[in-house]
Amino acid sequence: MLNVTEIRKDFPILSRTVYGKPLVYLDNAATTQKPRCVVEKIEEMYYSLNANVHRGVHFLSQEATNAHESARVTVQKFIGAKSPNEIVFTHGATESINLVASCFCRAFCKEGDEILITAMEHHSNIVPWQLQGDIMGIKLQVVPINENGELRLNELEKKISSRTKLIALTHISNVLGTINPIEKITKIAHDRNIPVLVDAAQSVQHLPIDVQLVDCDFLVFSSHKIYGPTGIGILYGKEKWLDALPPYQGGGEMIASVSFEKTTYSEIPFKFEAGTPDFVGSAALAAALDYVSEIGLEHIARYEGKLLEYATRRLQAIKGLHIYGNAANKSSVISFLVDGVHPYDMGMLLDKMGIAVRTGHHCAEPLMKELGIQGTVRASLAFYNTYEEVDALIKGIERIIKMF
Ligand code: PMP
Repeated sequence: MLNVTEIRKDFPILSRTVYGKPLVYLDNAATTQKPRCVVEKIEEMYYSLNANVHRGVHFLSQEATNAHESARVTVQKFIGAKSPNEIVFTHGATESINLVASCFCRAFCKEGDEILITAMEHHSNIVPWQLQGDIMGIKLQVVPINENGELRLNELEKKISSRTKLIALTHISNVLGTINPIEKITKIAHDRNIPVLVDAAQSVQHLPIDVQLVDCDFLVFSSHKIYGPTGIGILYGKEKWLDALPPYQGGGEMIASVSFEKTTYSEIPFKFEAGTPDFVGSAALAAALDYVSEIGLEHIARYEGKLLEYATRRLQAIKGLHIYGNAANKSSVISFLVDGVHPYDMGMLLDKMGIAVRTGHHCAEPLMKELGIQGTVRASLAFYNTYEEVDALIKGIERIIKMF
């Protein structure tokens, strides 16, 4: 079992107060708090190792390069990739999807081709494909969900056509908490020679993932959602795909040689990393991944699962409260509405009690439309959250219901 009391000491922000009340931070799906080791790594990088990476002959540059490249290996091992060459540093999940959308469509799609996504995608896995669609005439096909917020897998198979060029789907819904069967879907896709991109922005921090087991072709996530710094993220791509894609942005670092007549490009992963990389961010992300690995994602998943069960049971007992997303396989995100209380009011009033939740469409407007609602209140749990914090949420909601 996790020693949550001890773990909370690693996150100084969790002991602060807001409006004079203890902070109850339940907005972890938006971003997670940072353990001391991550912030200390950032300090160490700036105070002791700051120098531009890759091209320097001097000591500091080599140390910074070693830190950056060993961070790549940490990420590789964390998700079980075959080689560090399959790990591209980006600014986050959003940029990673934009990179694949831009490069993949340029290389492999023509007018009338289709990208298959799902009804529960974040805008980050919708709009990048639409941008390509606008340029190249590519269409989106959408797999619907059932009343529990699970994908209709038989519909997925029906939506695949000879025009389907790629399936891009979230591993875990940031609204419903649904855990999608990505291994099964990858198998269905590969049987038809279609590559798969997995948006793991809401999953890498909750479940162990092995990209070789899943066999997905691309996988993306953001550092800030897995206790790392903001502004850096990961694109994993199978070597064969990254080799086959054209570069994304041009500039320094991504070239082999440049002349005014012709430029040749670096090998992967550098081909996709134009400009000075965020070597401070990569080192700090590696510190976050080491921290999570030390605790163990299996332990994290078990604890968060129990906390989710407890929170769900207590919320379901509140009259007039409706939970959106009741998948059999669910992660620690709970979206809900209470009869007669606007989600924005609920969020504002909980905030005054020191309880941070998110309200609105959660960057999933098409899903809201599907559910026939404008938005929800969303409480999202992390392994540093406690049963007492869930109790505080319940008490807060009950007080607000009385006020209305
Ligand atoms: N996909 C999902 C499922 C998300 O929840 C998020 C963040 N809310 C993103 C993508 C985008 O992540 P970022 O804003 O860090 O790029």
